[in-house]
Amino acid sequence: MTRMFAASLFVFCVFAWGAIRFPHEMKNRRKNRVTVSHVDRRERIVLFISLAGLGLIPIAYTVSMAIRDGRGILSSADWGFSPTLAIFGLFVWIGALWLFYATHRQLKRNWSQTLELREGHTLVTDGVYTLVRHPMYTAFFLWGVAQAFMLQNWIAGLAGIVGFGTLYLTRVNREEAMMREAFGTQYDSYVERTKRIVPYLH
Ligand code: SAH
Repeated sequence: MTRMFAASLFVFCVFAWGAIRFPHEMKNRRKNRVTVSHVDRRERIVLFISLAGLGLIPIAYTVSMAIRDGRGILSSADWGFSPTLAIFGLFVWIGALWLFYATHRQLKRNWSQTLELREGHTLVTDGVYTLVRHPMYTAFFLWGVAQAFMLQNWIAGLAGIVGFGTLYLTRVNREEAMMREAFGTQYDSYVERTKRIVPYLH
């Protein structure tokens, strides 16, 4: 496993993630009316920061490395490359993809990329949603961890955790407030028996 190969595998998994999401994105556009929306400028900005950290920066790093013979735009921030860490990162990525797939399959039409509720929205509390309230966000953090282990670069590697962390911290309270308003005591009792993103811990 070389640095270039690990970075290419990382980018391949980003596209696999896109392939899992794409059909849901299309379905939502068709006939899935939004009834409540809390999307504002702040939400749009943090969505972009997250997209940059998890996608744009590591892809630019990898592509520039490929076309400039191993010297990417951020190569000066590389750590010494460990193939073992990269392989560990790949396993974390595979776990993230599985979890992401599971959350989409469970949320079905209740999914939104942002702070919205849909017509006929139901509260999902079974399957992976019995473990934590935000398993899709857990999957995004695992993507960030995989990115750090596979790219082994101070900027391109850590941009995912920082970018998604920014989105998570500004969104999670607002999302829970929106869910509480819509589902009342049903949501309160769900909150009482679950943690947010790490079972039993947080
Ligand atoms: N935070 C969840 C969902 C992310 S998608 C997770 O990490 O798995 C974001 C949208 O999903 C929110 O805007 C809300 O409309 C919806 N949502 C969040 N939790 C939900 C739940 N338990 N059941 C149904 N819809 C939910």
